[in-house]
Amino acid sequence: MTNAKQSLLKQLPAVDTALKEAAVQHLLLQYGQVTVTRALRALLDTWRQQILQEQWGAAELAQALADLPLALARQVAAAEQPNLRPVVNATGVIIHTNLGRSLLAEAAAAQIAQVANSYSTLEVDVETGARGSRYSHVVQLLCELTGAEDALVVNNNAGAVLLALAALTAGGEVVVSRGQLVEIGGSFRIPEVMAQSGSRLVEVGTTNKTHLFDYERAIGPETAALLKVHTSNYRLVGFTEEVAGRDLAALAHEQGLLAVEDLGSGVLIDLHRYGLMYEPTVQESIAAGMDVVTFSGDKLLGGPQAGIIAGRAEYIAKLRQHPLTRALRIDKLTLAGLEATLRLYLDEETAIKEIPTLRMLTTPVAELEARAVQLVAELLPLVGKAAKIEVVPSLAQVGGGSLPGYDIESAAVAVVPQAISPDELEKRSRLGQPAVFVRIYRDQVLLDMRTLQPDEFSSVREAVCQALLGR
Ligand SMILES: *Cc1c(COP(=O)(O)O)cnc(C)c1O
Repeated sequence: MTNAKQSLLKQLPAVDTALKEAAVQHLLLQYGQVTVTRALRALLDTWRQQILQEQWGAAELAQALADLPLALARQVAAAEQPNLRPVVNATGVIIHTNLGRSLLAEAAAAQIAQVANSYSTLEVDVETGARGSRYSHVVQLLCELTGAEDALVVNNNAGAVLLALAALTAGGEVVVSRGQLVEIGGSFRIPEVMAQSGSRLVEVGTTNKTHLFDYERAIGPETAALLKVHTSNYRLVGFTEEVAGRDLAALAHEQGLLAVEDLGSGVLIDLHRYGLMYEPTVQESIAAGMDVVTFSGDKLLGGPQAGIIAGRAEYIAKLRQHPLTRALRIDKLTLAGLEATLRLYLDEETAIKEIPTLRMLTTPVAELEARAVQLVAELLPLVGKAAKIEVVPSLAQVGGGSLPGYDIESAAVAVVPQAISPDELEKRSRLGQPAVFVRIYRDQVLLDMRTLQPDEFSSVREAVCQALLGR
């Protein structure tokens, strides 16, 4: 090691000495000895590395030493932050898988908090005091809302599909259209799930067209079920045809087979009525005669992560007894959130108002524009000449593999930074506190009002100012 490096390293304070500095005392009071000491060690380590790697000379080190209390305060604050923490979603993608899909309604979040630090009726029959079933809390609600005879909930929809196939079709063949061999992000692929379940996939039809006679011809002595999979994250357009659920279910029953449908998102209200694109509802699938229907809790339903299985009582009973059900068991917090969410659906108007996913989907554009105007008015005086800021029309997306290729009219605040690139502004916003996730479109940084909530405006103002002006 060079002498210069050695003499710089010697200037690094001992941990004990640094902790005695007057400017550090308030940190010790606030966070305690252990936390501050750990942060200080980490900080001095990074400084040591800067010196060893010759990134720092005497001047840089002197500056760092002078700023030690501030740097330590930042280090402690950063270390105290949870890794999984809230962020602001200004991307305009409503069911943003990477940002946590659906936000829960207030009632659902409150119910989770209630059950979290209290004993609960999870698996007890209050009337008799005997052991009860955790699944019972949502069965009635699900039956009422979907028209199904019975229902079961598990960890997520991928688990629901696997369980349904493992319990009902293992050892047999399951016929699926080639147009519906879906892959969902995170390596959920119908052919592979089929194999895991112990069922054999029989593909029929072509990528773009599958007819009823394709299913008919594929049925043999080994056939156990006909499976319809909703192509929830892609769309076939043009010269295409798929068999309606009603016809598929009728054929299955004629032949003594099961009709199963993986709906993916699983919506409980008719989105068409709100000017959105049609998405098949769970009720329709049940009414069409499907024996078992599976869907997600946290996509268009707007609840917590869960897999919901609704259908005929005799099949749901079989699922309940399968060993995978225990392995895929839904936890009590999810169950509390799911029950509260489902209760909101008993009145559609309440559901639209209270469930954030539905509210964001259905907010009129004029209202979003008014919010954008408001945010621009708040930002302009703060930002000055550091950026051009205006209201622009925008296109939001449902996301989460729901309603693919379908844009929703929206309004956004467009920020064009003058001294830094849009990419740099995006990065700084993402690294800010709280992190703000934005979208870049044609060299503008867009803050989309469809996903940005009015009560997040102050966070956004702060984040944008910090990112643009460094304060
Ligand atoms: C999203 C989706 C799944 C997986 O659901 P998760 O709740 O994410 O496990 C399965 N099938 C389809 C068609 C889907 O859209």
